[in-house]
Amino acid sequence: MRSSQISFASNYKVTRMRVGEAIDLIKVVSSPIGFLVFILATVIAIADNASALVTQEQGSNVLQQTPAGNLSRFAQQESKPLKPPLRLISQDQKSAFDGNRSFDYLRDICKIGPRPSASKGMVKQMKYIQAHFESIGGQFLRQEFIAKSPYTGKNVKLHNLLIRWHPERTRRILICCHHDTRPFADADKRNPRAKFIGANDGGSGVALLCELGHHMESLDGVFGVDFIFFDGEEFVIQRPRDQMFLGSIFFAEQYSKGIPEWRYECAVLVDMVADKDLQIPLEGNSLHFARGLTEEIWDVAREIGVKEFVPEEFKFIRDDHLPLNEIAKIPTCDIIDFNFPNPTAGNIYWHTREDKLENCSAESLGKVGAVVLAWLQKKQEAEK
Ligand SMILES: [Zn+2]
Repeated sequence: MRSSQISFASNYKVTRMRVGEAIDLIKVVSSPIGFLVFILATVIAIADNASALVTQEQGSNVLQQTPAGNLSRFAQQESKPLKPPLRLISQDQKSAFDGNRSFDYLRDICKIGPRPSASKGMVKQMKYIQAHFESIGGQFLRQEFIAKSPYTGKNVKLHNLLIRWHPERTRRILICCHHDTRPFADADKRNPRAKFIGANDGGSGVALLCELGHHMESLDGVFGVDFIFFDGEEFVIQRPRDQMFLGSIFFAEQYSKGIPEWRYECAVLVDMVADKDLQIPLEGNSLHFARGLTEEIWDVAREIGVKEFVPEEFKFIRDDHLPLNEIAKIPTCDIIDFNFPNPTAGNIYWHTREDKLENCSAESLGKVGAVVLAWLQKKQEAEK
């Protein structure tokens, strides 16, 4: 927490104090025991305010960024002096997707803790994402929308985050993931209300894009690339009452109305891509809606020797690629390993406490990232 935030919180308290209370306070502080009590109370008050401030500050930013009546537009986030994560790129790393560095991002993200929609964890992660991408030359935009909280039934603000590379290029490709995590580990047999870290389901997509960003400025060619981080993919406590894919649905609906004004030729979604035992078969809906694109990606995987992209059709998975395909009409492929930990055991780690860093690997992130990057490079080459 930065000192300016703490002083804001303290000032806020002082302005609410009446004169009489202030005089009483001086009396208490002037005695030795009173002074100790005062120091202790001040420390507690600052800590308390600092944690409450996350929400308060988020609220004020949001209102400032997105005027009422203009909720559907992307707003450019004002840059704040946030400390970016220190992961510099060396000369020999410039061409290769670095799985280890991607895993370092994943570790940072997991350290934040659970990151469900409209939570303090998510606010922290949004700041992390903004600081990271601005430090490596991406343009950061935020799309705000309103959704009903499954906890309270009240309206809350959710955010899709967009990072743009080479915004002047008119032909564009979209790379997507979701940045929210499930509210609880609700598939956990022993404790379905346990904390859910979502290292693989949620974290892996964010970590992969954090690394992929290092390779975007130097990506020459006709295509500009945008990254989108969808909110509300699984802001779900009770199914079927609570709807999934809130962020991608909102984005797709706005897109179909002409917002933003730029268009995408295709999109790739990454989800659950850090599983230690990586195996990614062709996903049914991707083949149904975007067969050409999906086969292109699996061909690239074969060409660069990533055999974990298994060229066999798997089941149909419902994910953020559906609104993009069905509503926005952007051909979208989902790269997802939906057997966590592996096909023999089944998808038994999904939405449980086992979705943690220890069950993910740098190698897997490295392999998926290498395929996505090689595919982007090939797309650019094909148009030269
Ligand atoms: Zn999930």
